[in-house]
Amino acid sequence: MTPHADGPIGAREAPALALRGVTKSFPSGTTALAGVDLAVRPGEVLSLLGPSGCGKSTVLRLIAGLIEPTAGSIERAGRAEERDIGFVFQEPTLMPWANAFTNVWLPLRLKGMSKRAAEERVMTALSGVGLADFANAYPRELSGGMRMRVSIARALVTEPSLLLLDEPFAALDEITRFKLNNDLLELWQRHGFTVVFVTHSVFESVYLSSRIAVMAARPGRVVRTLRIDEPYPRHDAFRTSEAYAGFCRETSAALAMAMDAEEAA
Ligand code: ADP
Ligand code: MG
Repeated sequence: MTPHADGPIGAREAPALALRGVTKSFPSGTTALAGVDLAVRPGEVLSLLGPSGCGKSTVLRLIAGLIEPTAGSIERAGRAEERDIGFVFQEPTLMPWANAFTNVWLPLRLKGMSKRAAEERVMTALSGVGLADFANAYPRELSGGMRMRVSIARALVTEPSLLLLDEPFAALDEITRFKLNNDLLELWQRHGFTVVFVTHSVFESVYLSSRIAVMAARPGRVVRTLRIDEPYPRHDAFRTSEAYAGFCRETSAALAMAMDAEEAA
């Protein structure tokens, strides 16, 4: 499968994922999401961008099937039954007592795969994030960026067709974050999975995405979708380009409008 988010997408192409009229209320009485409509195209990188509390994590958890919508539906194309989703959380959530290999092996182990049977796939996943030489290292021996790489390898070891990331790089320093942005795009180009990426950073969403869904809070909803019409592969030169600055301006303005709408609500 080749990523084609930079090419024209046929109007009749079935979405990889579609949320229709999704509402989520919690027993506490909070309406986290109200009437979210969102179609994610196969092989695209879609970012959910919005202020804290607008329901970004709730959207991801609904997509992953960790929680159920109160109303509306979520449809997944293809291998939906196999639950082939990779999830990367803001915190790397590694088992501290286990080395990188064992952490990445976990999803395969849960499917009943022995260490020996899983070895090739685990090592491929670790190599993919540049950590082939750190298979025996424990989380405490790794930097924050390396721990996040292990977490990404663990999410990708099952070769999911959909990768969900919830503010994965928010806790990292800027240089490490830029590097991991590039590494994520490289993995995506190599494997062609669909990405839904949650962030509150305009700059990060523009750098990574083929489209950005801008969200507002109270209640959480998608207020605008922007297309970032810049071909892949993207490199650091894009960060300093006129085009990038223009996309960032447009995206910031959309976000400001979303937040104004919220205050008015
Ligand atoms: P974001 O990820 O954009 O910061 P969340 O999806 O975490 O936003 O939360 C959206 C809203 O739903 C917030 O008001 C939050 O307090 C509320 N919320 C999220 N999870 C729960 C829960 N399990 N129980 C009650 N309220 C929740
Ligand atoms: Mg969140």
